[in-house]
Amino acid sequence: MNASIDVVVIGGGHAGCEAAAAAARVGAETILLSHRVDTIGEMSCNPAIGGVGKGHLVREIDALDGLMARAIDRSGIQFRMLNRSKGPAVWGPRAQADRALYRMTMQELLADIPRLEIVADPAEDLTIKRGRVVGVVCRSGRRITAGAVVITTGTFLRGRIHIGEKQIEAGRVGEAPSVGLALTLHRLGFPMGRLKTGTPARLDGRTIDWAACTEQSGDNPPVPMSTLTSEIAQQQVPCHITHTTSSAHSIVRDNIHRTAMYAGRIAGPGPRYCPSIEDKVMRFADKESHQIFLEPEGLNTHLVYPNGISTSLPEEVQLDFLHRIPGLERTVVVRTGYAIEYDYIDPRSLNATLETRMVQGLYLAGQINGTTGYEEAAAQGLVAGANAARAVGNQKPVILDRADAYIGVMIDDLTNRGVDEPYRMFTSRAEYRLALRADNADQRLTAKGIEWQLVKGARAMRYREKADRLADARQRLQSAKASPSQLARNGVQINQDGQLRSAWDCLGLPKIPWPKILEVWPELTDLGDNTIAQLEIDARYAGYIERQRADVEAYRRDEQLRLPMHLDYRSVGGLSVEEQQKLDAGRPGTLGAASRIPGVTPAGVIALLRHVKSQWASNAG
Ligand code: FAD
Repeated sequence: MNASIDVVVIGGGHAGCEAAAAAARVGAETILLSHRVDTIGEMSCNPAIGGVGKGHLVREIDALDGLMARAIDRSGIQFRMLNRSKGPAVWGPRAQADRALYRMTMQELLADIPRLEIVADPAEDLTIKRGRVVGVVCRSGRRITAGAVVITTGTFLRGRIHIGEKQIEAGRVGEAPSVGLALTLHRLGFPMGRLKTGTPARLDGRTIDWAACTEQSGDNPPVPMSTLTSEIAQQQVPCHITHTTSSAHSIVRDNIHRTAMYAGRIAGPGPRYCPSIEDKVMRFADKESHQIFLEPEGLNTHLVYPNGISTSLPEEVQLDFLHRIPGLERTVVVRTGYAIEYDYIDPRSLNATLETRMVQGLYLAGQINGTTGYEEAAAQGLVAGANAARAVGNQKPVILDRADAYIGVMIDDLTNRGVDEPYRMFTSRAEYRLALRADNADQRLTAKGIEWQLVKGARAMRYREKADRLADARQRLQSAKASPSQLARNGVQINQDGQLRSAWDCLGLPKIPWPKILEVWPELTDLGDNTIAQLEIDARYAGYIERQRADVEAYRRDEQLRLPMHLDYRSVGGLSVEEQQKLDAGRPGTLGAASRIPGVTPAGVIALLRHVKSQWASNAG
């Protein structure tokens, strides 16, 4: 049956789920097309959400009322705050999932969203009229007319699996690749390339000698990902750690010529920061051992995911390798590990809204844009879905910049720098990471989400209550003041310089614990623990953040500086020939975009800034 709809989302992975949910939340009648309904929300690789950098993205998605954090809170079986020994800016919330429960929870959350229909019918082609997408053609022959289309097909575009010498055309193991759509995108002239990623074998936990491994428990109590979750109700289980051995490494080395990557059958690069065991052994030849986390795949399954040893070695070699690892000597492999190679689209062909520059109304999100990871995909999905819906409703686009959110950092990196390997998020990618913390994502983004119609109802109400509570508490802390001698009388040691200190100042000093502050100002006792925990981080970072705020203002001022469309870069003094050529080819719209063209140096950016400002001055004069 043919249909007409506001937004069609193609793909039910992490990007597709958030894109469809966001489009419907903004008010668009939305259809999500996927191969199968029961694989919607599938975790293709490791059963875990979050981590350092990635956890920041999950909290930001949650702040904009996305689904990922709520889904993991209901299905997480081990929660840990990574990097706890470092400053709160780089703490990374991570949770191990019950894989089946995560998928089912995501499907339930989607089913509850008004205006969203889910259809199991893969997209084969797009209908384009006068440079604008106007619909989708499905495998069944059904035609859907649409105001906007979001493609989130992950690793499926001309996907090809490699296991040793064997090659299988597939989007994921057991699932057909997307060929029709890949050909459509080729035909439309999108700049495309090949990337690869990989996954380890899955093991039968009943055949692992757990006593030979080290147990690792999660945090107690577990800290939820979503601000809407008050506590984690799910049963929590431990993970285990073991290590590869030099004997296992020699198996890898002896068979390296049989892997697709080293035999030259895969052209595309893989994720440098998530290397296969082949890459680890070959690139770090002096290392005799690598850590393996044995992660349970769920509460009602014996499947175990050995994190850290993704591989495309032949099946029998994988087994031989595993049997040389302590605890895995007799393990049974339930599913063989594999590498997958797939098409991606150069994300420099997208705007910051994730709309393609070549076809109006067509948005791309997720692994198709050269990223890797569920969280990166979900965050893009949310932005693309919201923008698709807002464009159909003639509303202003949703754009986050590098000073707003990790989501802004990622989209800016992708659309301006492109990728030469699968892109994943790290805290080091963000310039303003003291301000962009996982703990304050709601304070940074939920007000914007309300303005963009992404956040409504209970979350909007909770956010306002929390924001009021924090503002009120901060004000009380700042107005409670005492002299150094009064403080000393209460056991708070501070410089005896005669200067009054507020409770806020004291909270910012790591050596003064909150109970000590309460001895000085007992009237603050009613401020709740959660409020104080949040404000304590804010108070500690206050000085740095103030400085960073000035940097952000300067960045926003110059970043937004528009570059004339027909600027003759050869006339800009101080630019190298390479810079002139790159700028001429890229034609960036703003100074910020120019600064992120690979090869354009900070000195070149300053030369450009001076040139444009002097042009203005002479035009004005
Ligand atoms: P996916 O989750 O792949 O979802 C794509 C969706 O699109 C699926 O629902 C599919 O059915 C649907 N679809 C495809 N074509 C069509 C069509 N024509 N019509 C309708 N629906 C369609 N990430 C890491 O961070 N670390 C890793 O180690 C890692 N290893 C990986 C190993 C493997 C083997 C794979 C496959 C992925 C791995 N990933 C890893 C990546 C991670 O799974 C992805 O980054 C993430 O799932 C991308 O989300 P997505 O929404 O873009 O795509």
